[in-house]
Amino acid sequence: MALPSMKHVEPTKLTKNSKFKFRCHKGVKCFTQCCSQINILLTPYDIIRMKKRLGMTSEEFLEKYTVMDIEEKTSHPFVMLKMLASEGKPCPFVTPEGCTIYEDRPANCRYYPIGQASMRKGGEQGPEHEEFYFFIREPHCLGYQEDAEWTIESWMQDQGVDRYDEVNREWKEIQLRRNLPGDALDSNKQAQIYTACYDMERFRRFVFESRFLDIFDISQEEKEKVRTDDIALMNLGVKYVKYLLMLEETLKVKEEHKKK
Ligand code: SF4
Ligand code: SF4
Repeated sequence: MALPSMKHVEPTKLTKNSKFKFRCHKGVKCFTQCCSQINILLTPYDIIRMKKRLGMTSEEFLEKYTVMDIEEKTSHPFVMLKMLASEGKPCPFVTPEGCTIYEDRPANCRYYPIGQASMRKGGEQGPEHEEFYFFIREPHCLGYQEDAEWTIESWMQDQGVDRYDEVNREWKEIQLRRNLPGDALDSNKQAQIYTACYDMERFRRFVFESRFLDIFDISQEEKEKVRTDDIALMNLGVKYVKYLLMLEETLKVKEEHKKK
């Protein structure tokens, strides 16, 4: 339940009001067939949910269950769920009874059979972005033959993916940035982005054990929150990435550290 091959993507752009019929349940003949040999892009909130579910730190989760790569157009690091090497390359969480982390499955699995994409209006450096949706129709998926009716919006609510989109919204905006010629990120910036977006425990150590809090003006309330709350920490991570990329002045440097 994730990123399909492009040949199964329907080209029509859909809105939240578009209707479709679909139902996935244990009784379908294809049950769990969609959980092997797939590319599942993980968002920061996916990782927070999954590592908590598994009782792991982000570092442990990233090491065991993911692979990192660099996106060509943005030069940003991104994280994919690692399929097992065994026959058929199944997802590490699939069993004949279904997904063992179902309540905390990633956003892409929740969206399926809907795909979601964002693009900048007015070209790759345009100021606004638009989100749209599309159907994924893989031949093995029999869910379209069922008769439960949805709009894309009601499907998103039913699958709980609206919450994921809300938490990941600012991070998604960063993903829409494109390199101008010659401005690909260096490996040091890529490592900082990876930590700030995906590796919450390491980023927390960076915030509290480096000179971060000496340099940046962070309110007492925010400091208290990020000490224990991973979503607040992720939001600070995204602000830090925007600051690093000079996309917005999301963090204020303390007066004494400003260059005279
Ligand atoms: S995380 Fe769950 S729903 Fe997603 S591919 Fe793996 S088993 Fe399937
Ligand atoms: S109906 Fe589609 S989504 Fe559900 S198990 Fe079958 S292939 Fe997967």
